Amino acid sequence: MAQTTPNHTQTVAGWAARDSSGEIAPYTFKRRENGDSDVTIEILYCGICHTDLHQVKDDWGMTMYPIVPGHEITGIITKVGKKVENFKVGDRAGIGCLAASCMECDFCKSSQENYCDQLQFTYNGIFWDGSITYGGYSKMIVADYRYVVHVPESLPMDAAAPLLCAGVTVFTPLKDHNLIESQRKNIGVVGLGGLGHVAVKFGKAFGHHVTVISTSPSKEKEARDRLGADDFIVSSNSKQMEMGKRTLDFILDTVSADHSLGPILELLKVNGTLVIVGASSKPLELPSFPLIFGKRTVKGGIIGGMKETQEMMDLCGKYNINCDIEVVKPDDINEALGRLVRNDVKYRFVIDIGGNSSSL
Ligand code: NAP
Ligand code: ZN
Repeated sequence: MAQTTPNHTQTVAGWAARDSSGEIAPYTFKRRENGDSDVTIEILYCGICHTDLHQVKDDWGMTMYPIVPGHEITGIITKVGKKVENFKVGDRAGIGCLAASCMECDFCKSSQENYCDQLQFTYNGIFWDGSITYGGYSKMIVADYRYVVHVPESLPMDAAAPLLCAGVTVFTPLKDHNLIESQRKNIGVVGLGGLGHVAVKFGKAFGHHVTVISTSPSKEKEARDRLGADDFIVSSNSKQMEMGKRTLDFILDTVSADHSLGPILELLKVNGTLVIVGASSKPLELPSFPLIFGKRTVKGGIIGGMKETQEMMDLCGKYNINCDIEVVKPDDINEALGRLVRNDVKYRFVIDIGGNSSSL
């Protein structure tokens, strides 16, 4: 049993990887007692983000083992501390990637905690008390209420879970570029996975023309029929890529692996913007010609702030936007991670932590 930080008296059952094989196995550990600003949440569901895969395999060289992944958490509040505002026992709650930040810098003060340089994550982070954070592949979590959001009543708890990371990560760049409930634009989404499929749904809900750029021809029919994509470009098809040149105002790149940005940039109109949210562990190739000939911009973004996360959840409630999920049991996490490696999921695995039905 790990972790001996004082006050960490609550024994929790979870699932962890012990080394870079990434193999997940049951793991019992301690969490802190519910402090004055904390809420305790009985976890019902947790999405399996590709980041979990990067982290359990130590792709980014920063993993502290044993690691309990999971930052797409939904559950029910079972305890609230006396300083907690806006939450009560019984509330449907969500936790994403953020566990702590300094609360004093300009970013924290302007609800962009995600850019605080002392940001700590829900797992594989160091909390204020010096303890290592453990994520949502576990039965229960204690979180500071300022990093918790409400899950609207209209959203099912399983299909809403991936919104807490995948959803807000693609929502924030759209918001930053004035693409929420705004004038119709041509937007592209590269990579139709967990993040990408939510981006398509947002793009359509907000009234845009959405083009998917994918390595998987087999995803086209569903992308169009089920997700509502207007166009589908197979990135290895040079004719389709040629036809797509200079057609898009904005592109969101969600690809988890190494790839060249040159062909993607060519799809942008002059002055267009490419936002990278996918987190390849290798440097991406960035040729200068598509940049300079098209006065194009490449930038990145990490998740979103807490205010944006709640705003995104509320908008999903309003537009009835859910994730397309495949629910798995905790015993099947390794199989699910293996399928995620093989790009065999439509479009997000969600672990049924509580052993409940999806009607919650
Ligand atoms: P995912 O479900 O595995 O989706 C990634 C998609 O990328 C795949 O479905 C596939 O789509 C495409 N792809 C995979 N390998 C490729 C390759 N070699 N070349 C080109 N395309 C490839 O992963 P996810 O959960 O959406 O996460 C995507 C990335 O975003 C990960 O790196 C994750 O760590 C990162 N992430 C970043 C943030 C942030 O805050 N910036 C937040 C969450 C996740 P097609 O089959 O359509 O090609
Ligand atoms: Zn994630």
